[in-house]
Amino acid sequence: TICPVPTPIGEPIKGKTVVFNDLASPVTVEMDSYLEKGGYNALKKALSSMSPDAVIDEIRLSGLGGRGGADYSTGAKLAAVKKHEGVKYVVANADEGEPGTFKDRYIMERDPHSLIEGIILAGYAVGANLGYIYLRAEYPGSWRILEKAIEEARQRGFLGEHILGSGFSYDIRLYRGAGAYICGEESSLINSLEGRRGLPRNKPPRITDVGLWGRPTDVQNVETLANIPSIILKGGEWYKSLGDEATPGTKLFCLSGHIAKPGLYEVPFGMSLREVIMVLGGGIPNGRKLKAILPAGSASRLLLPEHLDISLDYPSVALTGSFLGSASVIVLDDSTCMVDLAYWMSAFSHHESCGQCTPCRDGTEDYYEILDQIVHGQGKPEMFDLLVRIGDYMMESSICGLGKSAPSVPLSSLEYFKEEWMSHVEKHICPAGVCPMAPEG
Ligand code: SF4
Repeated sequence: TICPVPTPIGEPIKGKTVVFNDLASPVTVEMDSYLEKGGYNALKKALSSMSPDAVIDEIRLSGLGGRGGADYSTGAKLAAVKKHEGVKYVVANADEGEPGTFKDRYIMERDPHSLIEGIILAGYAVGANLGYIYLRAEYPGSWRILEKAIEEARQRGFLGEHILGSGFSYDIRLYRGAGAYICGEESSLINSLEGRRGLPRNKPPRITDVGLWGRPTDVQNVETLANIPSIILKGGEWYKSLGDEATPGTKLFCLSGHIAKPGLYEVPFGMSLREVIMVLGGGIPNGRKLKAILPAGSASRLLLPEHLDISLDYPSVALTGSFLGSASVIVLDDSTCMVDLAYWMSAFSHHESCGQCTPCRDGTEDYYEILDQIVHGQGKPEMFDLLVRIGDYMMESSICGLGKSAPSVPLSSLEYFKEEWMSHVEKHICPAGVCPMAPEG
């Protein structure tokens, strides 16, 4: 059921902003204020003085990568679609469902025109005439704001036939998903958009070759697209200079969990995890100690306090064995039961698995059942080996990222917090007093 009342989105972005200045506004940025701040000037610049190839070159120069978490070169993806003749599409992936992630919602509800301008620019770059926004069902407020903003853009001549008097015509359609996490995966998103079940496709062929309605399609995350107007206006070199060498630019970080100042922050790549959590986020409240961090929600392996000095860019986080992903940073203090955390993440994966492939369908069910026994005092030490073996099978053989990453939290918790797990299965005691078998109940 779609909630008819939009949930309040909370406070504006916190701290300094460089690219996403409009997110600091306490209210949604309307067309007139967007125009006053230079909105749609990037589109004017591209249509009047840049070829589609020049737009792609500028984006390539910026080093912008997929902000949904893959960090794949946006310029390379655009070029892969552009090389094809005939009908092509751009799709904004607004199916933001990763636990702890809320950055795209901020963009859509506070600064919708930056996304719309980004989609038009991507369409111009690849030679498409139609773009889609695939919005998650749980964001009814975003739907209303985007619907209005798209109509405003049509009325002002930024969408429609011969945009701003150029030879380029383009329109955007808004499509609502039905609440499945898996539709955030680009090929299942395409299936859903076509009216089919949202099942991930085996690749190849890639979506950039055979995507929506069998045509080449550029699927990009909302944050990725919203970066494009600033890159076209200020240049790829400018954007590149904002991050570190490993990952250029900035990233919207969603800070949640046991942290003094939760919220959305724009962070230049290369800042340390310590600075993000202890300085921007204000540290751990209530006199408690930091126990662990999930840098990318349910998809990432845990990080520990000893990782606080790593540089937050994609390669540096990957060196720890974890994953920066969409930067949905969930902070956990020493009151957290790491077995209970694994249990709830397993419940999430089990619920959201589409069931198409055996490793994930059976593996997530096995994980959930084993963890359920452990938190209810019926666990045995030999179950640990089973979790490792099933996890290896899931990571090696699942079709898509859900099955491949589902064991990440449970297995890293087991590796780093083995004593807690042993207490659950040998003494049937949850040291944190959280799990149902604990004396406190
Ligand atoms: Fe579906 Fe899971 Fe297989 Fe992905 S890995 S296709 S979610 S069953």
